[in-house]
Amino acid sequence: MGTRGREIVGMDVDELLKLLNRALADEWFAYYQYWLGAKVVKGPMKDAVAAELLQHAIEELAHADLVANRIIQLGGKPVNEPKKWYEWSGRGYLQPDDEYVKTILDQNIEGERCAISYYNDLMKKTKDTDIITYNMVITILNQEVEHEEDLQALLEDLELMVKRG
Ligand code: FE
Ligand code: FE
Ligand code: MG
Repeated sequence: MGTRGREIVGMDVDELLKLLNRALADEWFAYYQYWLGAKVVKGPMKDAVAAELLQHAIEELAHADLVANRIIQLGGKPVNEPKKWYEWSGRGYLQPDDEYVKTILDQNIEGERCAISYYNDLMKKTKDTDIITYNMVITILNQEVEHEEDLQALLEDLELMVKRG
């Protein structure tokens, strides 16, 4: 923890740490949901979809890294047990039991929409109080917006393909 770095935060740091730990649990779920989805996905365009899912998995893991580093920097403890991810997560985990491409894409689009809303709120909360967290959130939010669009574009292609044979 950096003492002065923590002092300059203009909001309740314990409250902020809770918000960041929720984000961390969400990122682990996102990572695993993508990672597993890339392995099990079946149906038309599955190679293109699997490649995108795997790329997103890697990016979600990088988000977890950024968030955990910020938690530690602020003197907090990153959520220390996978069981607690369920307790802390807001987005939850959607297990890829139905392995059809459209179902997997829909589930991950839902996850991205939760992430976009959550980071958008966190962006507003930190805008005038914690520029360091704010900058991190902007970086992540940029990528979550990109993720949603990537998946929707794949879904569009899939629907065209299925419709036109
Ligand atoms: Fe993420
Ligand atoms: Fe994402
Ligand atoms: Mg992508």
